[in-house]
Amino acid sequence: MVLSIGVPCGRSSSLCGYCSPPGERSIKRSSRHIAGLDALQLSCDVYQAMIDRGWRRSGTWCYKPNLKASCCPQYPIRLDASSFKPSRSQRKLINRWNRFVEHGKNTDKPAKNKGKGSTIFDFVDAIHGSEGVMDGWEHRFEITLEESSYTIEKYTLFEKYQKKIHHDDSTIPGFKRFLVDSPLLPDPIPYFANPAKHLPTHYGSYHQLYRLDGKLIAMAVLDILPHCISSVYFMYDDDWEGFSLGKLSAIREISLARELFGAGAPGLKFLYLGYYIHTCQKMRYKGDYQPSFLCDPESHTWYPFEECATLLDANGYACFSNPENSGPSPRDAEIEEFDRHIPFKLDHDLWKQLLVVDRISGSRLFAKTLDETSLSEEEEEELSCCVEGLGTSLARRIIFRL
Ligand SMILES: [Zn+2]
Repeated sequence: MVLSIGVPCGRSSSLCGYCSPPGERSIKRSSRHIAGLDALQLSCDVYQAMIDRGWRRSGTWCYKPNLKASCCPQYPIRLDASSFKPSRSQRKLINRWNRFVEHGKNTDKPAKNKGKGSTIFDFVDAIHGSEGVMDGWEHRFEITLEESSYTIEKYTLFEKYQKKIHHDDSTIPGFKRFLVDSPLLPDPIPYFANPAKHLPTHYGSYHQLYRLDGKLIAMAVLDILPHCISSVYFMYDDDWEGFSLGKLSAIREISLARELFGAGAPGLKFLYLGYYIHTCQKMRYKGDYQPSFLCDPESHTWYPFEECATLLDANGYACFSNPENSGPSPRDAEIEEFDRHIPFKLDHDLWKQLLVVDRISGSRLFAKTLDETSLSEEEEEELSCCVEGLGTSLARRIIFRL
């Protein structure tokens, strides 16, 4: 059995990067997190269940935003890879890139390799149509998928991306913490037969590398999980900005989900695109991949995007399962009240069920139940918040290190 172990953390807040320009960010315009978990290791199943309750990870740090107390509520968004159909503009993007790889810049010649002579646009074929070494082609475009790891080539791309796109500095340790470290333990994918060579053998954390003429031009950080591919991050060389590689990468990831499902990964039906913020123009494109769904902040069930968009147009905070719970964005006073709020108390039955690390000796871990443990008031509060964010059934699958 794969153990999931983490240090529970209580409420926290971070400055909101979406609604106020840098330098003007006040602490009141902020994202509040219900809870955090500094994960030592997680099974892919447990992490799947976490992201289905609105959690997300940055390196090994996992957190769950509080949508009610955030100026820009973050709704998890996913799309159904099995019934995805690219829109006209998405098809154009794929064809434009394929044309460029085949003929070079500034050409209107159609690309030959459009999907095995089919008249129906097959986006899985089309997305692979520009890859490989082809005689007479202007460029060589290659895609590789590898387990998350550090290389100077990746860091150089990240450094340039941070500087040019986000006007931010970067460091190697920061890059490793954010995009290389992962708590996910690889777990074999139960394929029917040997999968195609470009498909991964295990669920886990990956880097998908885009190389043009041998040079790394983009990289996607992906978690491949039992029910989805979760897109963690995407960065690209701004020399290629005009080709909308970010939008193309989502289509490539949908294609990967579909291929994994086709090869026998039984539950792999979705692509998770992280969080969707309705008021943030830059995120609107996430709703353009259809059919897509948002996760309800109260029931943790998924609702069709169009249905949600109507509620989001009218409310700062929208609840899809109970529209009457929707309302305006929280005012500062409400956020302050949230910060003072006393978290729920763990009920006594749960004390006998939750596991805590007693000691680790070599490769052996000894656990005890919470009722055999003495907790400081602070530890109890951190743990209560974390359990509240996880829900009790998921909390029972994690061993907490206090
Ligand atoms: Zn904001």
